[in-house]
Amino acid sequence: MSEEVALDRSVASARGKPPTSGSEDTVHKEHHRNVTGGLARAAVFGVSDGLLTNVSLILGVAGASPAPGLIRLAGIAGMVAGAFSMGAGEFISVSAQSELLQREIEVERLEIERHPEIEHRELAQIYELRGVRKDVADTVATALMADPAVALQAHAREELGIDPSDVGAPLGVALSSFISFAVGAAVPLFPWLFLSGTLAVVLSVVLAIGLAATIGVVLASFTGRSRFRSMTRQVGVAIVAAAVTYGVGRLVGVGVQ
Ligand SMILES: [Zn+2]
Repeated sequence: MSEEVALDRSVASARGKPPTSGSEDTVHKEHHRNVTGGLARAAVFGVSDGLLTNVSLILGVAGASPAPGLIRLAGIAGMVAGAFSMGAGEFISVSAQSELLQREIEVERLEIERHPEIEHRELAQIYELRGVRKDVADTVATALMADPAVALQAHAREELGIDPSDVGAPLGVALSSFISFAVGAAVPLFPWLFLSGTLAVVLSVVLAIGLAATIGVVLASFTGRSRFRSMTRQVGVAIVAAAVTYGVGRLVGVGVQ
């Protein structure tokens, strides 16, 4: 963070602008918003996945009108299986991605160790291309290259576009996917824990539409687009998914009986 600010200031002064007093806050806030925003967005998509999967599954089974216990069992199985599947899938993909990034960082570390002159020029050129004066770019590169750890951070950021201290936490991401899917899947299941028949179907659909609308509004706050459009899209998709599986359930149910 201190290097980032220092770099920001040299860039600003190289362009003839005085560093603003608020630049430290701006850098920090932007960083913070990106990180938490990404996690929150992933969680909302997880809830959406759980909702769509389970409302479809529950209505598909309900369409065949079996005993209420069977619908409840299907909903619980769908929730548990889906949450484990999402968590395990995220764990594997984030682990693999983090291993890939770690290998790239290791390559960069060896390059800095073996060819510091080439790496120094590379870094200076990157800043020059961004409009920093040649001598300032050279001074910044020299300062960054003085400490191997700082040099590695700068190279990882400028060349790979990543922060070496933030290459992903597989367990945290997996847990967040697991929980968010389970929350979304639990909502259309809830009525079936106490009720059965048409009342349970209607309540399940009403709760699903309510959650879908909420997800739409939250997603609109991330994207800055129209709330109404986002809400309508989310609710529309949920209704279509539920209606189609309900219809399939009815057809298959009639065939089986
Ligand atoms: Zn490099």
